Parts: sequence; structure tokens; C-alpha cells
Amino acid sequence: MLDVREIYAEPAAALSPRGREIIGRFPGARLIEVASHWNIPHLHGNEGNVDRWVRVKRSTLVLGVRKSLPVRPNGRSADWIAPGASNGCAMACAYCYVPRRKGYANPITVFTNVDAIAGAVHRHLTALGPKPEPNQCDPEAWVYDIGENGDCSVDALISENTADLIRAFREWPTAKASFATKFVNRELLELDPRGRTRVRFSVMPPGDSRLLDVRTSPVADRIAAAGDFLAAGYEVHFNLSPVVVRPGWEADWAELLRELDEVLPAAVKARAAAEVIMLTHNRELHEVNLGWHPRAEEVLWRPEAQQAKRSENGAVNVRYRDDLKRAAVARLTELIAAHAPWLRVRYAF
Ligand code: SF4
Repeated sequence: MLDVREIYAEPAAALSPRGREIIGRFPGARLIEVASHWNIPHLHGNEGNVDRWVRVKRSTLVLGVRKSLPVRPNGRSADWIAPGASNGCAMACAYCYVPRRKGYANPITVFTNVDAIAGAVHRHLTALGPKPEPNQCDPEAWVYDIGENGDCSVDALISENTADLIRAFREWPTAKASFATKFVNRELLELDPRGRTRVRFSVMPPGDSRLLDVRTSPVADRIAAAGDFLAAGYEVHFNLSPVVVRPGWEADWAELLRELDEVLPAAVKARAAAEVIMLTHNRELHEVNLGWHPRAEEVLWRPEAQQAKRSENGAVNVRYRDDLKRAAVARLTELIAAHAPWLRVRYAF
């Protein structure tokens, strides 16, 4: 996944204990000082081709100090979105929204002040008090998504940030961390999360995944890991996402659900829940993808089936038309009931 050759670092990040640890992990990497982790023009943006992006994602890290530490309300996947300890990803899913601010060639930026991030979450949690009533996010705990702009399992290959957050949450009985992942990192099994971290393995039909989930762990490996993560003390949920509506999608999702039913241990099934997330796309990403992965766009970009919708951050996205989306969610819910009736759907979006 990573073969780090260059580390761009803000001076304060390079001098911090976490920064020094990371630099020490990659002794062969060249250290390059930058004024701001946000603005490294030849690294970010959409210039070049995907070979270059993948090379950059594999060989380059950025270290920065996170300045703002907002905890944002969510209410769907989690109650709250924690300030992330990273931004960017070494994988390259064709539908990914994470690069929207830096451009597609967006390697991982690691924030070296994870203590400040954990502190901000703890202050927020303390001010909230216990969760007053159950909701679909969790019956008892306030759920904080700790991986909105990256993949915490890959981040754990680089630094102790993911481990530090998991260890922090295990001390907070009214909270739970949550992150989605497409990468199986078995080092996470050693962290003893004591039920206070929810891992959401993202799954989709393997054919879609081979086309769209560039550089991720195979879907079968993610499913095979679920039992081990549960046994290691994680709560294990699934993201059925993104659901890409294309000819034959129903049969392929039915097969995936049957596989989940056959392969998952009974203990996983007894506790599992799922988020169903229909594909969101946007024109800018469509145009970027046409340059490097046009086959992905044959299934992702379907103007006759999609409508524009302004997202919370002001971007104009496209989502499936309301009628089509309603019908697809209803159909997938039927398929779940038929093939994996133990899988509680927390929400469908
Ligand atoms: S794993 Fe997640 S963050 Fe990484 S490229 Fe794929 S969708 Fe984006």
C-alpha cells in the first residue's frame, strides 16, 4: 500500500513527537519543509494521469498540524463527526468525495496533534452528558465518526493516530468511535477497543468493487475479517455502499447478501447492522474520471437516472432521481430481508 519516499511537513509538525515518530518510521524518505499542508501545488490537483496519482499516494505523505477542531452534528452514520486525524487516502475509489478539496492526486495528510483532536472530542462529550435516548446511531452511546476524510485502517500503517483514538474512546463509557474502511489492517486487532469502536466494513458486489474500488482490499477479505474484528473487541457493522444502480445490480447484490449470510460467523450476524448509501456523484469528478478511468463512468454517470442536488457544503452533486432511488432502496431492502434477514438496516440514504 505504501512505499514512502517523500514527506512534506510543516515545521511544527515535523518537530512534534508524532511527526518525529512518523519520520523515524520511514528513514529512507526525503523530508521537504512546506509552509502549509493545504497548499502543495505540484502534489495536489488533477494534473497528470492515474499512474502518477497512485505513485504519489504510495510514495508521499504530508504532515500538518490541525488548527481547527470542530465537532459537527451528523445524525445519519454517526451522531457527530469528529475532527479527523488525517485527510486524504492512499486508495483511489472512483466515486470518492474525499479529494474534493485538494484534487484527485491527494496523498494522506497526517495531523500530528492527535492529542488535541482527542481533547476536543472529550470536551464535547463532557459538555453533552450521557445520551438521553436511543437513536438509530446507537441505543446508548454518542457515536463519533473519526474517519470522515480518509481510511483509518490505512492511516494506522503510518502512525499511532488511529490507535490513540481507539484507546481514548475505550475510556469514555458514553461514547463510541466509528469509521468505515475498505482496507483490512490486522494490526488493528491488537488494540483492545473494548467495544467502544465500531468498524464499518464497506461492501459492494465484487464486480463493482474491482471496477471502482481502486487499491482497496478485496471485498471477500473484508467479509472474512469481520469475525476476527468482533472477537478482538470491535463492534462490526457494514456499509452497503455505494449502491450503484446499473443493469444487473439486483442479482449481484443478492449474491453478495447470500455470501454474507453463508460466510459470516453467527456472532457477527447477531450484532451486525448496516448503512445503505446510494451513489452520490458530481460533474467535476465525472470529468476527472473520464481522463483516467472511463469504464467507471459507464456505470457511475447516468444522467437519465440522476438529478442534481446541492449538498451541505454547497457543492452540486448528482444523486439518483427520487423515484428511482426510492424504488432501489425498497428493492435492496427486500433483498436483505430475503437473503440476510439478520442484517438490520440502520438507515438508507
Ligand atoms: S477508501 Fe474511502 S477515502 Fe479512500 S479512496 Fe476509497 S472512498 Fe475514498
